Formats: sequence, structure tokens, C-alpha cells
Amino acid sequence: MASAQSVHGLPDFSQSTNFRSISTMLPPKLFPDVEPEPGERLNTEMAISESYSSRNITIPIHVRRGINDGPRVFVTAALHGDELNGTGAIRHLLADSSWELHSGTLILVPVLNILGYERHSRYLPDRRDLNRCFPGSKTGSMSSRMARTIFDQLIEPCDFGIDLHTAAVRRTNYPNARADLSNPRCAEMAEAFGAGIILDAPGPEGSLRRSATDRGVPTIVVEGGEVWRMESAVIDCMTRGVLNVLRKLEMVDGEIDVPIKQTVISHTKWIRAERGGLMQMHVAPGETVKKDQPLATNCSLLNEGQNQLLAPFSGVVLGASTLPSVKPGEPVVHIGKLGTRKQTNAYEKRSENDSVQQDAIEQFSSSVHVIAPESITNTDEADS
Ligand SMILES: [Zn+2]
Repeated sequence: MASAQSVHGLPDFSQSTNFRSISTMLPPKLFPDVEPEPGERLNTEMAISESYSSRNITIPIHVRRGINDGPRVFVTAALHGDELNGTGAIRHLLADSSWELHSGTLILVPVLNILGYERHSRYLPDRRDLNRCFPGSKTGSMSSRMARTIFDQLIEPCDFGIDLHTAAVRRTNYPNARADLSNPRCAEMAEAFGAGIILDAPGPEGSLRRSATDRGVPTIVVEGGEVWRMESAVIDCMTRGVLNVLRKLEMVDGEIDVPIKQTVISHTKWIRAERGGLMQMHVAPGETVKKDQPLATNCSLLNEGQNQLLAPFSGVVLGASTLPSVKPGEPVVHIGKLGTRKQTNAYEKRSENDSVQQDAIEQFSSSVHVIAPESITNTDEADS
């Protein structure tokens, strides 16, 4: 058996009786020094930094290898430490014995940003966003070094990646895949995932998916739901999607189960509050809207309408604020543009035919309090 020292540069306490209890705390195996045999699966850990008390900071990883050769795929969640729907999807995949990986290697990382997760926070303790630090630097800040370790040891050795997210705090996102569709491999993955809506964009500078794709590891992001929750409709969408991609890559048997045709969106807009007050929503995530349709009305605490927000174009509601009280400039509704009424009708018809999307629409209709515009008095001005 290799000593701890040879595995990861840690002192080898195993010969000392006094330190045996500390020795047993060390991870038995550290990724990526372990490679499962064909057909094997194992739980391991990866050291990504060190603590004030000079312990390794590690993240748990599940590695599964099929009996045949094939691609190596990572699925990561909680890169923002408070975004748990992806963690729930990975837990579901781990517990579900109905699928089998017959080719390639699958690496499941339920919580990538372990330090944020431990504090129920999006950010690292130095207040940096890990998802803006990639590919990172060996000589940079703590976050940058952490990003570099993750990138070198976990991301770059893979052939494809899926990174699971939710909306930021106080917002929710209707499930959607995000991919740079100018990259054919990303486009194929996003389509195979089958979220129903695909946002075409390369992702922010420094994000895991953009950095990975730039370095030849086509990676997509899937967004759905809110922080601090595990939402069944989102987990169903993510679980189905990951298995769909693995089927597309011929790593798992079975038919790909996706909506008949999916909607690609290349332009989105956050509609922001004009006034301070209580925002009464008229639409829910997943719904379609027509140009000039009322989206939300800003009211005083006495239900006097102060300002109505209208849809600037026809589209689908991708996300919304879950916090009803707003100040001017705060985001209220995120709309993805659908070009024509025909496209809007087509989107509605497609989502009706897909049970996973239909469940999501039903669940999201209750995640924000929606009321009819007519139930508000004194609406005296309208802005878009
Ligand atoms: Zn996120």
C-alpha cells in the first residue's frame, strides 16, 4: 500500500502509534491518483486546498468505469455552494440502479465548492466566485489556486462535461440548458440533454464551462430552480438530461428521451423594477408571454398599483425574482425572446407533449405568487 506521503505529499504518520488516529482521518484514496478497473465503481476524494489547521480540504467524488473504452465525462454540482438541485440530481443518479455505465468513465461531483457549501453560500470564504476563477493559477489567490487544481486534475482530463446550477439567491430559473452552440459538440450535448430550452451563449469569462470548452472539453451548464432547495421537477429534468447525454455518447443503453423539438434562445432580458414596493407577479417561470403583456405590477403596501412592467417582446419566462419587495433597478422577470407568435405557439405545443416540462411548469407556477392584473387598483402608468 502506498504511504500517505507518496500519495499526496502529506507526512506519513502511519509508523507512529501516537498519530494513528490522525492517520485514519486521511482519505484512503485521492483522485486523480486512483483509476477504477473496467466495470468498477468507487468513492474517493480530491484535495483542493488546505485548511488553517493544515488538514486537506477535500471534495467527495464518485468514479464509475464501464467495461468498454469510451469517453470520460464529468458531472459537477454546487460550484456555487448554495445551489443544491444538481447535488440532488447526482444523489438520484447514485441511488438509481436502473441504469448501467457500459462504456467510458463517469465522474460525479455532488459538491464542487465544498467551502461555500459548508456555509450555505454561493461564494468562497474570500468572497470570490469560484465560477469566475477558471482555469485558475498556481500562484494566484486561494480561489484561483483551487480553480487550477480542479481544472488540471478533474476537468481537463475529461472529454465532456455537464455543470449543474440553479438561479442565484432570491431568484428561480425554469430549467434550461446553456451552451455555446457555435461548438458542435456543445450543441449536440445540449440537444441530447433535452431541457426543452437551450440558451445559446459562451458563458461568462472565467466560468468553468467556458474555460473547459475553450480548452477542448465541451461543457454545458444546466440551470434550474432556486438555491437551498432540492426541487423534484428540476431534479427529474437534470437526471433525465445527464442520462440522455450518456446515451448520446454511447456510454449507457436506452433511448434518448427528449422533447420533440427544443427551443433555442439567443436573446434574453431581465425586466427590472421602476419603483420601490411590492411586486405582484402576473406570470410564472416557464410561461409564454406576448409583447406588451403585463408581467408584474409594482404596488404600495396598500395594494395601490404604482407601475406595471410589460413584456418588451414575445417570449418565455426563464426566471423570476422570488422576493416580492423590490427597489428601482432590481431584477423582476427574465425573458427569453421567441421571434414570432408562431414560434411561441410551437414552444407551448412542444412543452405540452413532454411530461418532464409539464411537471416543471406546474411546479413553477406555485413557486411565485401569481395574480391577475385586474385585481390591483389604481394602475395609473405602464412602462416597459
Ligand atoms: Zn450557479
